[in-house]
Amino acid sequence: MSVVRVGMRTDSCRVLGPGDRAVLWVHGCERGCPGCIGVSLAEGAFEEVTPQELANWYLGTRAEGLTISGGEPMLQAAALAQMVQAIRMQRDCGTIVYTGYTYEELQDLARTDEGIAAFLGCIDLLVDGPYVEELNDNVAYRGSSNQRLIALTDRYRQELRTYYEAATGREVEMRLAGSRMMLVGVPGREQAAMWREMAGRA
Ligand code: SF4
Repeated sequence: MSVVRVGMRTDSCRVLGPGDRAVLWVHGCERGCPGCIGVSLAEGAFEEVTPQELANWYLGTRAEGLTISGGEPMLQAAALAQMVQAIRMQRDCGTIVYTGYTYEELQDLARTDEGIAAFLGCIDLLVDGPYVEELNDNVAYRGSSNQRLIALTDRYRQELRTYYEAATGREVEMRLAGSRMMLVGVPGREQAAMWREMAGRA
């Protein structure tokens, strides 16, 4: 039985794509980008959840769509594709994915990896490329300016102009999940530094 290793999830967020979105942060990443804000998701605790259970979780939310980040989603592409397909059997769901791979690398991998091919087929908007600390110039929705917002379907094509015009200023949300505090969104340098300081004190 396939499972998804999940680092965190939230059923409502307004800073990682259009509208009210559910967000899933998958666990695990081998890239080790210096300055990665998601390092606890790359290396920390996680739960294992089946694609159908995650689909049921999403279907219980009122979200317009789902944003998947990490960690590296492409390491679990097949199970995530199953999850999105299970959701879409019941309800429409716009899907945004953040990955450290470039789109071109994924297209190459998809020739021999059925999971990546299936998952790419589920994605409406891809945010691609690794985080590069020196290129973190506060562009909206992306950690660094080498990352691209690529519309793989028409669903969010109109929103892309707004995304690129929002050249500065990042919004984050802080949420409490049980006793755990979550920083949701793509933080700017100062926000990330503040978060690290707070996490260090906790
Ligand atoms: S690809 Fe993303 S999650 Fe992985 S180390 Fe880089 S910034 Fe962190």
